[in-house]
Amino acid sequence: MTIIHQQHMRLRRELEAPPALRAFGSGWISGTLSVALGLACLGLVFAYRFPGLLASNELLGTIPVGALRLGLVLAFISAFMLAVISLLLRKDAFLGTLGISIALASSIIGGTLDGSWLPNYTPIYFGLDFFILNVIFTGLLFIPLETLFPKHHEQPLFRSEWREDMFYYLVSSMLVQVLSWISLGPAKAMLANTNWDELRNGIAALPITVQVLAIVFLTDLVQYWLHRAFHRIPFLWRFHAVHHSAKSMDWMAGARMHFVEVCILRGTTVLPMILLGFSTTAVYIYIFMVYLWSTFIHANIGWRLRGIDQFLVVPRFHHWHHGIEEEAIDVNFAIHFPWLDRLFGTYHMPEARWPEGYGVANHPVPNGYAAQFMYPFSKSDGVVTSNSTPFVQPANDLGLNNALQGNRDVSPMPNESAKDS
Ligand SMILES: [Zn+2]
Ligand SMILES: [Zn+2]
Repeated sequence: MTIIHQQHMRLRRELEAPPALRAFGSGWISGTLSVALGLACLGLVFAYRFPGLLASNELLGTIPVGALRLGLVLAFISAFMLAVISLLLRKDAFLGTLGISIALASSIIGGTLDGSWLPNYTPIYFGLDFFILNVIFTGLLFIPLETLFPKHHEQPLFRSEWREDMFYYLVSSMLVQVLSWISLGPAKAMLANTNWDELRNGIAALPITVQVLAIVFLTDLVQYWLHRAFHRIPFLWRFHAVHHSAKSMDWMAGARMHFVEVCILRGTTVLPMILLGFSTTAVYIYIFMVYLWSTFIHANIGWRLRGIDQFLVVPRFHHWHHGIEEEAIDVNFAIHFPWLDRLFGTYHMPEARWPEGYGVANHPVPNGYAAQFMYPFSKSDGVVTSNSTPFVQPANDLGLNNALQGNRDVSPMPNESAKDS
């Protein structure tokens, strides 16, 4: 056990090494890539060795065996080559040796991979393959952007708490089937009890672009008020505080969300999509778009996007939602359209400024996935709501938020102002 622990700590030290030891030419980039690629191969090989348990049926059915084998062989070779480069460049051989070992192990396990597992479908599975492809795809897209156009130059790829956020990624991917089952429950029940066939057929017949735009608008409207309720209602805030506990913003930070919040959020935002009968194509396009967009607005990307930021939510807008300072409390709830916040009086975009830091004031949320999972259920410990700091209600609020403001002064400890964002 101690050897495993020692190696684990050594790996962490290497991944979180100071900037000088991570520079281009130090063997860090090739070593890290080789380990990541090796792990991806190993995970995929395992997933397809136990297809009924570890691989998602949807993915299994769509990837041809030939393409899978070719992709894996190319990945093995790349992991080997990158490990060799790291060994040549880096004084410490740890990353290179680990990369080679993992790639070797996965090529041995996957050596006889054939198509015989294809019919082996089972009703329940854990989406290990989904997690790996998810992280590879999102990482490939956002790591280069964050490296080339960072907002916070000093923030490393493996910043503090990265393991926690990666674990959130793992949980939501592995439980993809359970999550969709829970989230679709209310919508299916309502669908069975409503008879709006004419309306639904009419909506499904609209051009796809119109349908996607309508979904984006309707889900953002629902999401806006639900999100605001999560900030305003103390019981809900305890769940949402987990999302706000992230002290760094990047492509991984958005994944940090309490399991219960994920279920409520998806279960509610999916209602307009299902009840109004939008076509499956439009729904899938939207799901892909919202996934990319919510990753983008959390990312460590310093683009100003002047002009565009008037119509669409951009990173600076959502970074203000996560800001630790008082001016960032209860602002910028929208995910797609910032003008919803203008309309409802919660818009906050100080000219050319970004927040000084991220998180919840006084950091009441504990570290670690398990502790964060239990946090909302723990005994009230003087935890404050997001609204414990007086919130000035703007004149153009249309009065709609009155319904959600009954808890303004519930904080048992007025000094312990919680940030929410
Ligand atoms: Zn967020
Ligand atoms: Zn929030």
